[in-house]
Amino acid sequence: MAGCSQDNEEEESGNWIKTLPKIETHIHLDGSVRLNTIWEIAQADSIDLGVQSIDELENICTVLEPMNSLQEVLDVFWVHQKVLNSRENIARVTFENVEDAYNDGVVLLELRFAPTFISLRKESLSNDDIILGVLDGIQAGMQRYDIEVGLIGIGVRGMEEEDNMQALLDIIRLKNGDHPHADRLVGYDLAATEAGFATSSFLNLITIARKGGLHITIHSGEDTDAEHVRKTLNILGAERIGHGVKSWDDPSVIELLKERDAHLELSVTSNWLTKTVLTIEDHPIKKLYESGVSISINTDDAHLMGIDLMHEYELIADKFGFTKDDFMKINADALEHSFLSEDIKAKVRDKHFKNWSSGAMPK
Ligand SMILES: [Zn+2]
Repeated sequence: MAGCSQDNEEEESGNWIKTLPKIETHIHLDGSVRLNTIWEIAQADSIDLGVQSIDELENICTVLEPMNSLQEVLDVFWVHQKVLNSRENIARVTFENVEDAYNDGVVLLELRFAPTFISLRKESLSNDDIILGVLDGIQAGMQRYDIEVGLIGIGVRGMEEEDNMQALLDIIRLKNGDHPHADRLVGYDLAATEAGFATSSFLNLITIARKGGLHITIHSGEDTDAEHVRKTLNILGAERIGHGVKSWDDPSVIELLKERDAHLELSVTSNWLTKTVLTIEDHPIKKLYESGVSISINTDDAHLMGIDLMHEYELIADKFGFTKDDFMKINADALEHSFLSEDIKAKVRDKHFKNWSSGAMPK
């Protein structure tokens, strides 16, 4: 969508970007259901989405221009949420996310989902249906495609703590269960608006997640400020930060990120749509990269935002001048920050990043 080629060499950019091995660490299952899939499930299961055609549906399930607040974007998630209504449909949508990622050149994908959000207003859908459906979906995806997939469960700020806690305990129980891909449940996240919530109020959840063997990434510094990122690192001990864009405003937070080797999961188009940055050019991705902070490039909510990962790479190459070497370094470094097991990471490293596997990447 954004490939702005200006000469022959650049015109081939789509090709080298396509074949570039990519690590995607931040995409929400519950914000990335294909338009056709929403339509088909709604028709098959008589779900009233308040629209009469797929064109009308597109208007209510995508955000293509900057909205006034993060909350407005979050509202569009409800359309995607409604069709995640059974273990089978959740498995289908999960499989399609794996397929989409593979088609964009992703070799390692970490997909995240929020049981407390997905189960809302659906009395017959249990956390087990959701978690097992996601596991079924990645199983089908990894059988079909040469891609490694990890899963991150999400606690949702603003929802009842006991509901978030129950979902977390269910994730930890099933992580130790007998599903063939149970061990792919590797991470825990906090999402939704950060403003108005005390970081410390989530310490109990995060402590239990960590004790349950889950790595920690947390949405922070998206609709707030650098101070929130500092607290997320210091109080909750996050290994990775979802977005963290506002870190750039405070050099001491940048130093802290580097000192901790904390990784930022960046999503440029998403940050523009939620007005975290006012223009794409305002995004600090290049400055963060050049300062030596570990970063990855992600869609966040691909179908909801009408983008795919190719779009993000082409946009970033075009607007910020990132080269193939830059992207290789970024992805080799992102691999090191993946929550998947060392065995799986070693396999991906040997296959795709052999000449880039010298530990922390030079910037
Ligand atoms: Zn996100």
